[in-house]
Amino acid sequence: MRKLDEVLSFNQAFVENKDYEKYVNTNAPDRRLVVVTCMDTRLTELLPKALNIRNGDAKIIKNAGAIITAPFGNIMRSVIVALYELKGDEVMIIGHHDCGMTGIDPKIVVGHMMNRGIRQDTIRMLHNSGVDFNRWLTGFENVKSSVEKSVEIVRNHPLLPPGTPIHGLIIDPVTGALELVTDGYEYLAAQSDASALLE
Ligand SMILES: [Zn+2]
Repeated sequence: MRKLDEVLSFNQAFVENKDYEKYVNTNAPDRRLVVVTCMDTRLTELLPKALNIRNGDAKIIKNAGAIITAPFGNIMRSVIVALYELKGDEVMIIGHHDCGMTGIDPKIVVGHMMNRGIRQDTIRMLHNSGVDFNRWLTGFENVKSSVEKSVEIVRNHPLLPPGTPIHGLIIDPVTGALELVTDGYEYLAAQSDASALLE
């Protein structure tokens, strides 16, 4: 069976059997969490279970590597919208060990594109029109420093609601164990101490 048909026929049974009922509006309080994490397939079920996130608890924003690079890009827009319009009030950026974005080399990716039939002309044309493949397709060497960089971008965003805690963490994609990289409460406390000193 083709993947789409497989999904559609499962879905029909899911709805008919009312399997959705257990996900409708649980009595668990809405935790108002905004999570930015990686699209890695091992995290699909593991991450919510390991963090005790249930339906209604969190906005989960995913991309390759849990990387936020652009203050006015897509991911940051989702974070801002979640905080202002969707009742989010705290952000966790969660990278993971053994991430596919570790050591991604733009040159190799472009080579793979050409092997799959993308013409050199297209690559050249995009390059000439300002697409910086080195920047756009680059991964990271170290997950901890990548999480730190993404956290910095969010913490320093000019439109971040003041007082929003932004935490950085790393999850183990096998055990689900979390490692704290940076604590958003401590950061905010240090900021307010610093501004008290300036007064
Ligand atoms: Zn990953």
